Amino acid sequence: KLYNQVQDLKGNIRVYCRVRPFLPGQSNLSTVGHIDDGSITILTPPKYGKEGHKSFTFNKVFGPFATQEEVFSDTQPLIRSVLDGYNVCIFAYGQTGAGKTYTMSGPKVLTEQSFGVNYRALNDLFHISKERKDTFCYEISVQMIEIYNEQVRDLLASDGPHKRYPSILFLLKFSPFCPRKPLHVDTLDIRNSSQTGFAVPDANSVPVTSTTEVIELMDIGQKNRAVSATSMNDRSSRSHSCLTIHVQGRELASGAFVRGSMHLVDLAGSERVNKSEVKGDRLKEAQHINKSLAALGDVISALAQKSSHIPYRNSKLTQLLQDSLGGQAKTLMFVHISPEADAISETLSTLKFAERVA
Ligand code: ADP
Ligand code: MG
Repeated sequence: KLYNQVQDLKGNIRVYCRVRPFLPGQSNLSTVGHIDDGSITILTPPKYGKEGHKSFTFNKVFGPFATQEEVFSDTQPLIRSVLDGYNVCIFAYGQTGAGKTYTMSGPKVLTEQSFGVNYRALNDLFHISKERKDTFCYEISVQMIEIYNEQVRDLLASDGPHKRYPSILFLLKFSPFCPRKPLHVDTLDIRNSSQTGFAVPDANSVPVTSTTEVIELMDIGQKNRAVSATSMNDRSSRSHSCLTIHVQGRELASGAFVRGSMHLVDLAGSERVNKSEVKGDRLKEAQHINKSLAALGDVISALAQKSSHIPYRNSKLTQLLQDSLGGQAKTLMFVHISPEADAISETLSTLKFAERVA
């Protein structure tokens, strides 16, 4: 009973923490002390500031040996609710290199075991919609956008830097029957309509029916993101990428529609940049990232506290996700930390951010 009350107070917001393992070649002085199912203790070694330890509590903590499958199994109930008409938002938060992309997409070289939340979520959506085929007819489509310096860009634009589609399947899909919208301007509008709620109507929305198609689409999106990175050195860690899945189901008996959506967001790196070290474009980027991550934290903590005013308007990210944060929507934040001693100050600030929204 008490547990239910606590859940009630926090509404539909859950926070999971994931610790990345040491990477090959890293020295093994770890700042991660005790981990159990719902808490983690961080040790500050003497060289790195005031020696001591601090514990943090989350809905779930995944240690360095947690598999992609284990991480996903706690995410799965959210997926089913999308088909029931709920809006769901899953975020990956943390400093660059802490494992955000690994959790959402997987490592660079993908295997069945290493698929991230994105692929597994879509796979589940396809599975469950097939299970329900006698009562519902579902249509699933995806969009992929990036928010960089408070500008929204379509990662599936037909004149994006990465134009060569991997397979004939996609050539067919983007054929005259389903033309892709070109990228006219670098920045797209977020609009609100009674039909779709807050959305980016000018970004390409691609109907999908299988995981293979989704993998190819994400590959296009990732490449479009990475191509612009060459000119601006690793832009991918300084933009938010958002994979949006729209689901529309028609109940065969009544003809009634249910609509649900899921946003899977790989956030920009949360690390603080030293203002004395960066200038110009880098400083501007850093300021945009700080502002939008702070806005996200403000919105989630206002929701967790059931505040009467939720400050959605302070960033493009929170405007875009307005319908998927709060109300009946369900939110899951994965916060990622690196175990290295060198990362201690970022680790502590990441966990403090997460504690505020948890
Ligand atoms: P981010 O997206 O936060 O910048 P990445 O996901 O790119 O971080 O992770 C950085 C590196 O660590 C990558 O080489 C990635 O494959 C690896 N990595 C991250 N998390 C894990 C994990 N849980 N298990 C194994 N390798 C991981
Ligand atoms: Mg990344």
